[in-house]
Amino acid sequence: MQEKTITIAFSEYADEEELTDSDRSLCAEAVKALGTSHSPYSKFRVGTALRLRSGKIIYGSNQENVAYPSGLCAERVALFSAGVNHPGDPIVAMAITAQTGNFELTQPVTSCGACLQVMAEYEKKQEVPIEIMFYCLEGPVWKTKGVRSLMPFMFYENRLEK
Ligand SMILES: [Zn+2]
Repeated sequence: MQEKTITIAFSEYADEEELTDSDRSLCAEAVKALGTSHSPYSKFRVGTALRLRSGKIIYGSNQENVAYPSGLCAERVALFSAGVNHPGDPIVAMAITAQTGNFELTQPVTSCGACLQVMAEYEKKQEVPIEIMFYCLEGPVWKTKGVRSLMPFMFYENRLEK
C-alpha cells in the first residue's frame, strides 16, 4: 500500500483590481447575472458568465423551484444554454459569483460537484480548457486553468472503454 497525494493548482488574486481587464470584465458580467437569480427559498443568489471564443457572453443564474430538486445551479443554466445555442463556439472562461443578505461571503463560493462534472463534460467535448474564476464581491478571486484542477478524479467515459 502506498499513500498518494494529489495537489491542485489555482491562483489567488487579492481582489478584482489584480485581474486582467478581460477577467475583470467577465467577473462584472457574473455580478450582472445575479440580477436574474430566482432564489426566493435560499435567498442565496449565484451568477455566472461564460465567455465564448467568439467573445459572446452567456449568462446563468440559479433558478430555484418550490419542488427543490427541480431547480438548477447558475453554472449549469449557463453551460447548457451555451451548449444548445452556441454549439461549436468553445467556452474559454467562466466567472462565478454569489451574494446573500444572510451572511457575509469573505471567500469565493465554489461550484457543486454536479456543476464541476458538467464543466468537465464541456471541456472534454470542446477540447479547449475552460478558465474558471470564483469571484467574491468582498474578497479574493480564485482562478484555475481548467476543470481538472478542481476535480482531479473527474469521471470520463473513456475509463469505461476496454
Ligand atoms: Zn452546482
